[in-house]
Amino acid sequence: NLSKRLTKVASYLPKGAKFADIGSDHAYLPCYVCLQDKSAKAIAGEVNEGPFQSALKTVQYYQLNECIEVRLGNGLEVLNNQDNVEQIVIAGMGGALIKTILEEGKAKVQYAKRIIAQPNIDARSVRKWLDENNFIIKSEEVVEENQHIYEIIVADKAEDDTIKRQDLNQKQLLFGPLLLENKTKVFYEKWKSEQEKTERIINQIKQAKLKDEQKLKRFEEELIWIKEVLDDEA
Ligand code: SAM
Repeated sequence: NLSKRLTKVASYLPKGAKFADIGSDHAYLPCYVCLQDKSAKAIAGEVNEGPFQSALKTVQYYQLNECIEVRLGNGLEVLNNQDNVEQIVIAGMGGALIKTILEEGKAKVQYAKRIIAQPNIDARSVRKWLDENNFIIKSEEVVEENQHIYEIIVADKAEDDTIKRQDLNQKQLLFGPLLLENKTKVFYEKWKSEQEKTERIINQIKQAKLKDEQKLKRFEEELIWIKEVLDDEA
Protein backbone atom coordinates (compact mmCIF):
# COMPACT_ATOMS: atom_id res chain seq x y z
CA ASN A 1 0.00 0.00 0.00
CA LEU A 2 1.35 3.36 -1.05
CA SER A 3 1.42 6.13 1.58
CA LYS A 4 -1.32 8.76 1.54
CA ARG A 5 1.39 11.32 0.75
CA LEU A 6 2.67 9.55 -2.37
CA THR A 7 -0.87 8.60 -3.46
CA LYS A 8 -1.66 12.32 -3.51
CA VAL A 9 1.53 13.04 -5.45
CA ALA A 10 0.56 10.35 -7.98
CA SER A 11 -2.91 11.87 -8.41
CA TYR A 12 -1.31 14.87 -10.15
CA LEU A 13 0.10 12.74 -12.97
CA PRO A 14 -2.10 12.52 -16.05
CA LYS A 15 -3.06 9.22 -17.66
CA GLY A 16 -0.26 8.11 -19.95
CA ALA A 17 2.27 10.14 -18.03
CA LYS A 18 5.90 10.09 -19.15
CA PHE A 19 7.57 11.03 -15.95
CA ALA A 20 10.74 10.99 -13.92
CA ASP A 21 10.79 10.30 -10.21
CA ILE A 22 14.01 11.80 -8.89
CA GLY A 23 15.16 10.38 -5.56
CA SER A 24 12.86 7.43 -6.05
CA ASP A 25 14.26 5.27 -3.22
CA HIS A 26 12.24 2.01 -3.47
CA ALA A 27 10.51 3.22 -6.64
CA TYR A 28 7.17 2.75 -4.91
CA LEU A 29 5.64 5.76 -6.65
CA PRO A 30 6.48 4.79 -10.26
CA CYS A 31 5.47 1.16 -9.57
CA TYR A 32 2.12 2.27 -8.15
CA VAL A 33 1.47 4.53 -11.15
CA CYS A 34 2.56 2.00 -13.79
CA LEU A 35 0.56 -0.86 -12.21
CA GLN A 36 -2.58 1.25 -12.50
CA ASP A 37 -1.86 2.80 -15.87
CA LYS A 38 -0.38 0.53 -18.50
CA SER A 39 0.27 3.51 -20.77
CA ALA A 40 2.51 5.29 -18.26
CA LYS A 41 6.30 5.35 -18.58
CA ALA A 42 8.74 6.27 -15.86
CA ILE A 43 12.38 6.84 -15.14
CA ALA A 44 13.35 6.35 -11.51
CA GLY A 45 16.50 8.28 -10.61
CA GLU A 46 18.62 7.61 -7.55
CA VAL A 47 21.96 9.04 -6.53
CA ASN A 48 22.73 6.45 -3.87
CA GLU A 49 23.63 2.84 -4.54
CA GLY A 50 21.46 1.35 -1.75
CA PRO A 51 18.18 2.99 -2.80
CA PHE A 52 19.11 2.38 -6.46
CA GLN A 53 19.30 -1.36 -5.75
CA SER A 54 16.00 -1.18 -3.82
CA ALA A 55 14.37 0.51 -6.81
CA LEU A 56 15.66 -2.20 -9.18
CA LYS A 57 14.27 -4.87 -6.85
CA THR A 58 10.79 -3.35 -6.62
CA VAL A 59 10.57 -2.88 -10.39
CA GLN A 60 11.71 -6.47 -10.91
CA TYR A 61 9.23 -7.75 -8.31
CA TYR A 62 6.28 -6.16 -10.11
CA GLN A 63 7.72 -7.07 -13.52
CA LEU A 64 7.56 -3.50 -14.67
CA ASN A 65 10.90 -3.39 -16.51
CA GLU A 66 9.09 -2.47 -19.72
CA CYS A 67 7.57 0.64 -18.15
CA ILE A 68 10.14 1.79 -15.61
CA GLU A 69 13.81 2.40 -16.13
CA VAL A 70 15.92 2.77 -13.01
CA ARG A 71 18.98 4.98 -13.41
CA LEU A 72 21.83 5.80 -11.06
CA GLY A 73 22.89 9.43 -10.95
CA ASN A 74 22.68 12.83 -9.37
CA GLY A 75 19.38 14.68 -9.78
CA LEU A 76 18.28 15.37 -13.33
CA GLU A 77 21.62 14.18 -14.76
CA VAL A 78 19.94 10.81 -15.31
CA LEU A 79 17.72 12.35 -18.00
CA ASN A 80 18.61 13.03 -21.61
CA ASN A 81 16.69 14.82 -24.33
CA GLN A 82 15.55 11.61 -26.01
CA ASP A 83 13.63 10.65 -22.89
CA ASN A 84 10.95 13.25 -23.59
CA VAL A 85 9.94 13.31 -19.99
CA GLU A 86 6.84 15.44 -19.49
CA GLN A 87 6.48 15.42 -15.72
CA ILE A 88 9.13 15.54 -13.02
CA VAL A 89 8.40 14.34 -9.50
CA ILE A 90 10.76 15.21 -6.65
CA ALA A 91 9.35 14.09 -3.32
CA GLY A 92 10.38 13.45 0.25
CA MET A 93 13.35 15.80 0.48
CA GLY A 94 14.01 19.23 1.87
CA GLY A 95 13.00 22.21 -0.24
CA ALA A 96 16.56 23.46 -0.52
CA LEU A 97 17.70 20.16 -2.05
CA ILE A 98 14.73 20.09 -4.44
CA LYS A 99 15.63 23.61 -5.50
CA THR A 100 19.26 22.65 -6.07
CA ILE A 101 18.24 19.64 -8.16
CA LEU A 102 15.97 21.82 -10.31
CA GLU A 103 18.58 24.56 -10.65
CA GLU A 104 21.39 22.19 -11.59
CA GLY A 105 19.11 20.47 -14.10
CA LYS A 106 17.61 23.67 -15.46
CA ALA A 107 18.26 22.80 -19.11
CA LYS A 108 16.33 19.55 -18.74
CA VAL A 109 13.51 21.02 -16.71
CA GLN A 110 12.64 23.26 -19.65
CA TYR A 111 11.24 20.25 -21.54
CA ALA A 112 8.89 19.30 -18.75
CA LYS A 113 5.29 20.42 -18.72
CA ARG A 114 4.76 19.79 -15.04
CA ILE A 115 6.77 19.62 -11.85
CA ILE A 116 5.33 17.90 -8.80
CA ALA A 117 7.38 18.71 -5.71
CA GLN A 118 6.82 17.44 -2.21
CA PRO A 119 9.24 19.24 0.09
CA ASN A 120 9.37 17.98 3.68
CA ILE A 121 10.53 21.38 4.87
CA ASP A 122 11.20 24.77 3.31
CA ALA A 123 8.57 24.76 0.57
CA ARG A 124 9.42 28.42 0.11
CA SER A 125 12.67 27.65 -1.72
CA VAL A 126 10.77 25.48 -4.17
CA ARG A 127 8.07 28.09 -4.84
CA LYS A 128 10.70 30.75 -5.36
CA TRP A 129 12.54 28.64 -7.93
CA LEU A 130 9.30 27.78 -9.75
CA ASP A 131 8.28 31.41 -9.84
CA GLU A 132 11.64 32.54 -11.17
CA ASN A 133 11.65 29.87 -13.85
CA ASN A 134 8.24 30.36 -15.45
CA PHE A 135 6.39 27.57 -13.75
CA ILE A 136 2.91 28.50 -12.57
CA ILE A 137 1.64 26.89 -9.39
CA LYS A 138 -1.59 25.11 -10.30
CA SER A 139 -2.32 23.09 -7.17
CA GLU A 140 -1.07 22.95 -3.62
CA GLU A 141 -1.96 20.65 -0.79
CA VAL A 142 -1.02 20.05 2.81
CA VAL A 143 -1.45 16.47 3.94
CA GLU A 144 -0.99 14.92 7.33
CA GLU A 145 0.28 11.42 7.81
CA ASN A 146 1.86 9.76 10.85
CA GLN A 147 2.07 13.06 12.74
CA HIS A 148 3.93 14.70 9.89
CA ILE A 149 2.59 17.46 7.72
CA TYR A 150 3.67 17.45 4.08
CA GLU A 151 3.22 19.98 1.33
CA ILE A 152 2.67 19.11 -2.29
CA ILE A 153 3.22 21.72 -4.97
CA VAL A 154 2.17 21.20 -8.57
CA ALA A 155 3.39 23.66 -11.19
CA ASP A 156 2.98 23.78 -14.95
CA LYS A 157 5.26 25.49 -17.41
CA ALA A 158 3.83 28.79 -18.56
CA GLU A 159 2.60 28.11 -22.08
CA ASP A 160 2.60 31.60 -23.37
CA ASP A 161 6.05 33.15 -23.27
CA THR A 162 4.51 36.49 -22.48
CA ILE A 163 3.17 35.21 -19.16
CA LYS A 164 6.51 34.98 -17.48
CA ARG A 165 6.08 34.94 -13.77
CA GLN A 166 3.43 34.94 -11.13
CA ASP A 167 5.60 37.34 -9.15
CA LEU A 168 4.70 35.84 -5.83
CA ASN A 169 5.17 38.06 -2.81
CA GLN A 170 7.02 37.02 0.37
CA LYS A 171 3.86 35.79 2.07
CA GLN A 172 2.75 33.77 -0.92
CA LEU A 173 6.19 32.19 -1.13
CA LEU A 174 6.09 31.22 2.53
CA PHE A 175 2.51 29.96 2.86
CA GLY A 176 1.70 29.06 -0.74
CA PRO A 177 -0.43 31.28 -2.99
CA LEU A 178 -3.22 28.72 -3.33
CA LEU A 179 -3.05 27.43 0.23
CA LEU A 180 -3.57 31.01 1.43
CA GLU A 181 -6.75 31.19 -0.62
CA ASN A 182 -8.21 28.03 0.80
CA LYS A 183 -6.99 27.42 4.33
CA THR A 184 -7.70 23.96 5.65
CA LYS A 185 -7.59 22.46 9.13
CA VAL A 186 -4.23 20.87 8.40
CA PHE A 187 -2.91 24.17 7.11
CA TYR A 188 -3.76 25.86 10.43
CA GLU A 189 -2.24 22.96 12.30
CA LYS A 190 0.99 23.27 10.34
CA TRP A 191 1.29 27.00 10.96
CA LYS A 192 0.50 26.69 14.66
CA SER A 193 3.44 24.38 14.99
CA GLU A 194 5.58 26.68 12.80
CA GLN A 195 4.63 29.57 15.09
CA GLU A 196 5.97 27.68 18.10
CA LYS A 197 9.15 26.83 16.22
CA THR A 198 9.64 30.43 15.16
CA GLU A 199 9.11 31.69 18.70
CA ARG A 200 11.69 29.23 19.96
CA ILE A 201 14.21 30.38 17.34
CA ILE A 202 13.60 34.03 18.20
CA ASN A 203 14.25 33.30 21.88
CA GLN A 204 17.43 31.47 21.03
CA ILE A 205 18.70 34.36 18.93
CA LYS A 206 17.84 36.83 21.69
CA GLN A 207 19.75 34.78 24.26
CA ALA A 208 22.84 34.32 22.12
CA LYS A 209 25.94 36.25 23.12
CA LEU A 210 26.45 37.45 19.59
CA LYS A 211 22.98 38.45 18.52
CA ASP A 212 22.35 38.16 14.80
CA GLU A 213 20.13 41.20 14.37
CA GLN A 214 19.33 40.54 10.74
CA LYS A 215 18.27 37.00 11.40
CA LEU A 216 16.21 38.17 14.35
CA LYS A 217 14.43 40.73 12.19
CA ARG A 218 13.69 38.14 9.55
CA PHE A 219 12.14 35.70 12.01
CA GLU A 220 10.21 38.41 13.83
CA GLU A 221 8.72 39.52 10.55
CA GLU A 222 7.82 35.93 9.73
CA LEU A 223 6.19 35.52 13.13
CA ILE A 224 3.95 38.52 12.43
CA TRP A 225 2.87 36.98 9.12
CA ILE A 226 2.17 33.64 10.77
CA LYS A 227 0.07 35.31 13.46
CA GLU A 228 -1.85 37.23 10.82
CA VAL A 229 -2.57 34.07 8.89
CA LEU A 230 -3.64 32.19 12.02
CA ASP A 231 -5.76 35.07 13.23
CA ASP A 232 -8.53 34.52 10.76
CA GLU A 233 -9.17 30.92 11.73
CA ALA A 234 -12.90 30.54 12.10
N1 SAM B 1 10.81 10.03 -3.26
C1 SAM B 1 10.61 9.02 -2.21
C2 SAM B 1 9.49 9.42 -1.31
O1 SAM B 1 9.00 10.54 -1.43
O2 SAM B 1 9.07 8.61 -0.48
C3 SAM B 1 11.88 8.81 -1.41
C4 SAM B 1 12.28 9.91 -0.51
S1 SAM B 1 13.82 9.59 0.29
C5 SAM B 1 13.57 10.28 1.86
C6 SAM B 1 14.95 10.65 -0.54
C7 SAM B 1 15.71 9.93 -1.61
O3 SAM B 1 16.34 10.88 -2.44
C8 SAM B 1 16.80 9.05 -1.05
O4 SAM B 1 16.62 7.75 -1.53
C9 SAM B 1 18.10 9.66 -1.59
O5 SAM B 1 19.07 8.71 -1.93
C10 SAM B 1 17.60 10.41 -2.81
N2 SAM B 1 18.40 11.58 -3.22
C11 SAM B 1 18.94 12.55 -2.44
N3 SAM B 1 19.57 13.46 -3.17
C12 SAM B 1 19.45 13.07 -4.47
C13 SAM B 1 19.92 13.59 -5.71
N4 SAM B 1 20.64 14.69 -5.76
N5 SAM B 1 19.60 12.93 -6.84
C14 SAM B 1 18.87 11.80 -6.79
N6 SAM B 1 18.42 11.25 -5.65
C15 SAM B 1 18.70 11.88 -4.51
